[in-house]
Amino acid sequence: TPVIGVLALQGDVREHLIALAAADAVARPVRRPEELAEVDGLVVPGGESTTISKLAALFGLMEPLRERIAAGLPVYGTCAGLIMLADKILDPRSGQETFGGIDMIVRRNAFGRQNESFEAGVTVAGIEDGPVEGVFIRAPWVESVGADVEVLAEHEGHVVAVRQGRALATSFHPELTGDHRIHALFVDMVRAAG
Ligand code: GLN
Repeated sequence: TPVIGVLALQGDVREHLIALAAADAVARPVRRPEELAEVDGLVVPGGESTTISKLAALFGLMEPLRERIAAGLPVYGTCAGLIMLADKILDPRSGQETFGGIDMIVRRNAFGRQNESFEAGVTVAGIEDGPVEGVFIRAPWVESVGADVEVLAEHEGHVVAVRQGRALATSFHPELTGDHRIHALFVDMVRAAG
């Protein structure tokens, strides 16, 4: 059984721990470099990407995370987590850095004021049995992707789910629904990597 960490600096950690357990992984919170060293895969949750970036630096996790992701650690980021996995952010806040791992440029809070939070059915490549319920909360979208990035889903013409090798990211929050199909896809990616 794969052991999957959830980066537990800020954000909806608990919901991811529950979804991963439901998808047959052993799930644990990760706050320290020693805990990171023990996991086979990592989820970066939704929350606030500027805060996650600052706390990662404070907890001495920025470099260890960058190194492990670059070395092929399977990772899955939702919303703020998607931002943290982007190689580049359009208009980052000062001091805001990312872990990287996906060759893409993201736009924060992209859907705009009229549409800050909404739900929509999203068809995701590789996910069978119909669309997933996409919960978008001040969500980013992916502005552009490099040649090695697979676009898995779009919403109204904007890219909202991507995969590059062992890195997966969604603008929306499957952990807030009872639907664990995307977590199950990630658990399969972790198994395949092991
Ligand atoms: N708007 C947040 C950010 O920029 C992301 C929101 C979320 O994770 N639901 O980090």
